[in-house]
Amino acid sequence: MLNRQGRPTQPGAAGAEAHETFTGNRALQQEEALIFEIGRLDVTGVDFDEPEAFMPRLGGLERKGDIGLPGLSEPETMRHFVRLSQKNYGIDTGLFPLGSCTMKHNPRLNERMARLPGFADVHPLQPVSTVQGALELMDELAHWLIELTGMSAVTLSPKAGAHGELAGMAAIKAAIAAKGEGATRRVVLVPDSAHGTNPATAALLGFEVKAVPAREDGTVDPAEVARLVGTDVAAIMLTNPNTCGLFERDVVEIARLIHEAGAYFYCDGANFNAIVGKARPGDLGVDAMHINLHKTFSTPHGGGGPGAGPVVLSDRLAAFAPLPFVRKAGTVLELVENGNRTEVTPFGRVTAFHGQMGMFVRALSYMLSHGTDGLRQASEDAVLNANYVRAGLADLLSQPSGNRPCMHEVLFDDGWLKGTGVTTLDVAKAMIDEGYHPMTMYFPLVVHGAMLIEPTESESKASLDLFIAAMRDLAMAAKRGDTARFTGAPYHAPRRRLDETRAARQPVLRWTPPPPEAPAEAAE
Ligand SMILES: *Cc1c(COP(=O)(O)O)cnc(C)c1O
Repeated sequence: MLNRQGRPTQPGAAGAEAHETFTGNRALQQEEALIFEIGRLDVTGVDFDEPEAFMPRLGGLERKGDIGLPGLSEPETMRHFVRLSQKNYGIDTGLFPLGSCTMKHNPRLNERMARLPGFADVHPLQPVSTVQGALELMDELAHWLIELTGMSAVTLSPKAGAHGELAGMAAIKAAIAAKGEGATRRVVLVPDSAHGTNPATAALLGFEVKAVPAREDGTVDPAEVARLVGTDVAAIMLTNPNTCGLFERDVVEIARLIHEAGAYFYCDGANFNAIVGKARPGDLGVDAMHINLHKTFSTPHGGGGPGAGPVVLSDRLAAFAPLPFVRKAGTVLELVENGNRTEVTPFGRVTAFHGQMGMFVRALSYMLSHGTDGLRQASEDAVLNANYVRAGLADLLSQPSGNRPCMHEVLFDDGWLKGTGVTTLDVAKAMIDEGYHPMTMYFPLVVHGAMLIEPTESESKASLDLFIAAMRDLAMAAKRGDTARFTGAPYHAPRRRLDETRAARQPVLRWTPPPPEAPAEAAE
């Protein structure tokens, strides 16, 4: 059955098909077509005068036809984007338990600070003398990142965690080349449970990736590292706390083995939010680590928005940090852009300018408004909340590592679903009906049917209690044999089960106009 919009009907809960509406709208949930489908070329929301005749100066390269932008009136435009925004789920809508991603509240104070015209409106090509305040902010942020991690230097310019990985590993590659070992140290060790960006980073830089098998509980065994490390190894990339939500308890021993073999220790610091103020990566033997400001220090992320992935570096790597960097010259701050004029040996640069200024402002605002005690408490509360969820679900869901305390995220497997006919994916879809963004699923790969839940510290006890109750209700329904609640879910979402494989493999990225309707009577 097609509704008025010509789309397949979207039945609600089983049997609700009879209530299909004429418009396709479902009460406050408004149906919305693509802007190209509702726009018309002869309509515009603005009222410009016709341009006067002018001489083209492009030598015949100017566009011949219409550009094909959809035209809408101002209220139609407004409604279009507001309706689309209402189909979105965000941290401002509800609890967002996406493990590894740290979807936490972004204090509005940070947003206010980032919008101050002195920060928001500066231009990267302005003379350095006119942006001393912005440079001072970067310098202060750098100071606190170094202080909190116990490292020697930081490069602020990378624009995401993965970008930071690339910068940190490029610094390691440069350090190895400087020692004349570039031809022999070709291997990077990456544990099985690593985020996909780790092996991708190593491969992109031309290294050969060797997997380090995980122990039963998902942590790395130093005996395995000792077995694999040698003069051909450039570095290990280790995530700590790891993607199973556990602190790598042998991290100091692993660092010792790596250094003894003349290699470097890269730490994926995406989970730094669990240990800020509690442990310093520098004390654990880390040589390079990226920090996802958009996870640990609360700047917004997701949906293609800007991220920031500063990389902290040890003494051994500091000289190889990429350009540009802020340096004090007497009482003035300068942005060092030229490698030939420095006493260090930067490996190059990773972005055009200095990095994501807006994220720097938000992160520093977050740090200063929390203070050292507040940052430590945020880490403690993140760990407490994850363990509260774990304890609230432990009797119904199964954990790969047994019922052991976790760090900032709790990992369940799909052992508890055995024989129910319900999968991890079905549980995720049923969570959508309950008004929750699903947890991270099927990651890390080392755990069967993984469900990785990260509540973050910004959830209240009341919201955690409701989440736990909803998850318990789902778990009991699955065990009771109420499979329809899962396999047909989501029933209440604007769209139901999508062909996710096809969407990924054959994405339709371009709208094409429908063929003109056969003009029966208009033919005359
Ligand atoms: C998020 C994340 C990354 C990648 O960070 P981006 O900012 O998304 O590029 C890398 N490793 C881990 C463990 C992560 O959680």
